[in-house]
Amino acid sequence: MKLSKEKKEHLNSKIIIAGPCAAESRAQILETAKAISEIDSDIILRAGIWKPRTMPGCFQGVGEIGIDWMVEAKEKYGIKISTEVATKEQAKLCIEKGFDAIWIGARTSVNPFYVEDIANACKGSDLMIMVKNPIHPDLNAWIGSIERFYSVGLTNIYAIHRGFHPLPESEYRNYPNWSIPIELKTKYPNLKVLSDPSHMAGNTHLIPKISQDAIDLNLDGLMIETHISPEDALSDKDQQLNPDQLLELLNSIILPNNDLSDISAINRLSELRGRIDKIDNELIEFFSKRMIISKKIAEVKQQNNLPLFQPRRWANILDRICDLGEERGLRREFVTELLNVIHTESIEMQKNKK
Ligand code: PEP
Ligand code: MN
Repeated sequence: MKLSKEKKEHLNSKIIIAGPCAAESRAQILETAKAISEIDSDIILRAGIWKPRTMPGCFQGVGEIGIDWMVEAKEKYGIKISTEVATKEQAKLCIEKGFDAIWIGARTSVNPFYVEDIANACKGSDLMIMVKNPIHPDLNAWIGSIERFYSVGLTNIYAIHRGFHPLPESEYRNYPNWSIPIELKTKYPNLKVLSDPSHMAGNTHLIPKISQDAIDLNLDGLMIETHISPEDALSDKDQQLNPDQLLELLNSIILPNNDLSDISAINRLSELRGRIDKIDNELIEFFSKRMIISKKIAEVKQQNNLPLFQPRRWANILDRICDLGEERGLRREFVTELLNVIHTESIEMQKNKK
């Protein structure tokens, strides 16, 4: 079954990567490649050849033989191929064998030595290189990895958002924490950031929602684990779609309309944005006024040798403002986070004053 012509045109601006968590056999790779290329020949095939697993004793991938299966799939079905690399030797082998793309997994992208070695191994190639976010929610660690590729002159660089640990109580396997990929895109407007709903979901039923969330947030593509027979998969079996489900997912995605032509909607949006801009200006004015008072408090504290941080007073402020926020429809977690940022800055400023 093929992706409808209309949907394909629609999804054209997005990069779609699909394939099994791991290459398991020649037949599995060839059958998957065939099914995926029939859906849309622009989909890039993925399969893990060397699988970094959290626990020893799990299936760790088929190793080098899997490279040949992927290359065969590329030759037979004209599909682009990608895999995860964790060492410079693996990266070199992928380049040598004509892979179109590689990605750095979440357990590797946190390690500066490995990432630097891989970047050096890729120097001069036109390989598409995708850097997954490290497991912990640290944007700088993710950026550091991406920068290591830029710094050796590589430009065909992408990021993949695959969710984070630790996990607040939730139904996800890895928490999306959408503010992190959004901040990445804000800092690097030309960097394409893809989303990996499979590893965020950990099951198949959450994948459509996460995929749509990613597209609504204007992320640039999706990596979806797809197995010819998910129930027999040797890793991540609960989160892999079969090719029919992949097709259904791609057909179900609604793309946001990037060029608005309805004049009344344009006017309405511009009026609302004007109001938001005004409020943002006022917020800055208020923060600045608050900081000036904070500095005065610092002077009194200094003159009277009082501690900078007074936990009881802070707990009272938090409680009172969270109650107020809740009355106005703001979540306590949001208000707490906001106040903590303000308070930290205030303490920093008072410390510098001392
Ligand atoms: C994978 O893509 O199969 C994988 C292991 O992903 P991650 O590095 O995001 O855990
Ligand atoms: Mn996987």
